Amino acid sequence: MFPIPTCAVCYHQVHPVKRPAKRIVCGHLFCTDCLTKLILRKQPCPFKCRSGTLLRFRDTRTVPFSIVPTTERDDRAAVAHVIKAVADELQHLESSAEEKARRLNTLSRRVANQLSTLARFASGYRDRLANQKNELMIFRDIERHLQVEVGREKTLLEELTAAQHKLLKASQNCGSASADSCEALDLLTDLSCGIRGVKRSREGFSEHERPSKRRRIA
Ligand SMILES: [Zn+2]
Ligand SMILES: [Zn+2]
Repeated sequence: MFPIPTCAVCYHQVHPVKRPAKRIVCGHLFCTDCLTKLILRKQPCPFKCRSGTLLRFRDTRTVPFSIVPTTERDDRAAVAHVIKAVADELQHLESSAEEKARRLNTLSRRVANQLSTLARFASGYRDRLANQKNELMIFRDIERHLQVEVGREKTLLEELTAAQHKLLKASQNCGSASADSCEALDLLTDLSCGIRGVKRSREGFSEHERPSKRRRIA
């Protein structure tokens, strides 16, 4: 009878049911609990035989039962244990499947709610977008009208400026003409006054009663 292997971490003898053994790729053997802890703590083989390579679940190999001597009672217990473990696992899987189905249901309801909310938002947004497009078209029409108006006003302004220039020129012409005509009028007035003064002096009026303008001119 060969010695029963022991776990290299906890030094307990492995047992097919109470302490199942597992071997890793380097050949070292640990009980399943210790090996699981090592893997979960992200540690390498404690013997440092793989230059610090972290242990992974896929590197573990189940040790065949045949390396451990068992009695018939142990074998029966092991089979019963395996059957119970499988049944437990099945129940756990079923319950977790139900739980997952419930969660999936809840999630799908939430997703459906959110989708309907999004659809509402999207339709509202589409409406707003359509309104804004209409408003934009109206604004563009107004802009076109305003541009036409601005063009017209520019033309009017140019015409007005031209008319102002013409008017200014005409008024300048008119001013020189009126100055000429005023001078001519003054001359005429003076002449007429002079003629009247001469007439009056001839009719016996004194020299100082003549109009002042006549004197100024003389
Ligand atoms: Zn151990
Ligand atoms: Zn090792």
